[in-house]
Amino acid sequence: MSLLDNVINEISQERLWSRHLQLAEIGATPAGGVNRQALSREEITARQLLVQWSSPLGLIPYSDAIGNLFLRYPGKHAEAEPVLTGSHIDTQPTGGRFDGSFGVLAGLEIVEAMHGAQFKPERSIEVVAWTNEEGSRFAPGMMGSALFRGQRDLESMLKVEDLAGISVRESVEAVRAAEPNVASRSIGFPVAAYVEAHIEQGPILEMQQKIIGVVSGIQGKRVFRVTVQGEENHAGTSPRALRKDALVTSVDMLSALHIAMHDAEDIVKFTVGFLEISPNAPSVVPSSVHFSIDLRHPDSATLNALGDAIPGLCEQHRGPCTLQVKELSNDPSLEFPSVVRDVIRDVAVELDIDHMDLPSAAGHDARHLHYVCPTGMIFVPCAGGISHNEAESCKAEDLFNGARVLAGTIARLADRV
Ligand SMILES: [Zn+2]
Repeated sequence: MSLLDNVINEISQERLWSRHLQLAEIGATPAGGVNRQALSREEITARQLLVQWSSPLGLIPYSDAIGNLFLRYPGKHAEAEPVLTGSHIDTQPTGGRFDGSFGVLAGLEIVEAMHGAQFKPERSIEVVAWTNEEGSRFAPGMMGSALFRGQRDLESMLKVEDLAGISVRESVEAVRAAEPNVASRSIGFPVAAYVEAHIEQGPILEMQQKIIGVVSGIQGKRVFRVTVQGEENHAGTSPRALRKDALVTSVDMLSALHIAMHDAEDIVKFTVGFLEISPNAPSVVPSSVHFSIDLRHPDSATLNALGDAIPGLCEQHRGPCTLQVKELSNDPSLEFPSVVRDVIRDVAVELDIDHMDLPSAAGHDARHLHYVCPTGMIFVPCAGGISHNEAESCKAEDLFNGARVLAGTIARLADRV
C-alpha cells in the first residue's frame, strides 16, 4: 500500500461528521441552521475550537490583520511556498451547517489523516479560514481572501461598519485579543496551490447522481448598492404631487431592472436581496431606501454589458428623488487551470468515486486565490441544492468522499517542490 493510500485510509467519516455537528452548535438557530456571522462572538468561539482541534497535531496557528486564520502543518522544506486548503466558517444570518465549514473541517481532517499516517509532505500545508466570506454583516464579502490577493485596501476594509455601527477594525481587534497564542503574520504571501472543498449549493451533482464535482471555474459577479433619497412626510396630509416617496420610486426602479435583466434562457442571475426603508414607520412617507443588486453571468462580456446598464436604468426611474448607485465589486468569470483540475479528477478516478466537471454558480474565496496561485475546487452534493438556508443538509458519506479526494489532491500537490 502506498503512503497516499495510508493517508486516505486515515480519513474518518465519523470524526469529520461529528465535527460538523459540534461546530454547528456555535451560533445554532432554533430551526436547525447556524447564525455565525463574520468576526462575531460566535465566530471567535468557533475559531478557538478549530485551534483546539489542531493543537494535538502540532499545527501552528497564525492570523493576519484582517483575521484570516491559518493552521500550518509543516512539511520537509519550511522555506517552500505552502499549499493552502480551506474555506470560511462565517455564515449568513440564517445559514446552514455545511457552507464553508466543510472546506475548513475537510482541510483539518486531511492533515489529521497525514499526521496519523506519519506523512510529511515536501511542502507545508496550511488550513485556512478566510474572514468574512459571506458579506452579510460587513459588505463586501470575501474580504479576507480579496485582501490576501492584494485586490483591496486594508484601511478602507477596516473602516467598514455593520448596521450597529461596529467597524471591522474593532471586530478584528476583538478576535485577535481573544487569541493570544495565535501568531501575527502579514497579509498575503506566496502560495504553491490552493484547493477549496465546498458544498455545491446547487442541484446538479444530486440530479446527476455524482459525488464529486471537479469545478471548472466560477461565474462572474457584480454587486451594486443603490440609495434612493426622497423626503419624509405625513402619510395623511402630504399631497401625492408633492411627495418624494423613496419606496414608490424604488419599486418602479426594481420593476424596470427586473424586466431588463430577464433572459429566456435563465442564465442571467439578478437578485435584490437587501432593502432597507427609512424611517420604516407606517404613517410616514419613506424618505430613503437602500437596496443591493447582485448580478451574475458566466460570460464576462454579457456581465459587463448588463452591469453597465444598471446606473442608467436607475436614473431613468428615479422620479422626484435623488439617486446614488455605487458598484461595490466587479469580478469577471474565471476558469481554473487544468494543472489542479487534472489532479482532482485523477484522484477521484483512482478512488473510484463518481465525479463530473461543473462550473460554480456561486462565488467563493477560491475566486481570489485564482490570481495568487494555481487554484481549484472540489464540490460535494447538498440536498436539493439548498444553501444559504437553515435547512441546508449533506450526507456524511458525501463529505467523507469529498475529504478523501481532497486528501489525495493536497498530498499530491504538496509532495512536489
Ligand atoms: Zn461558502
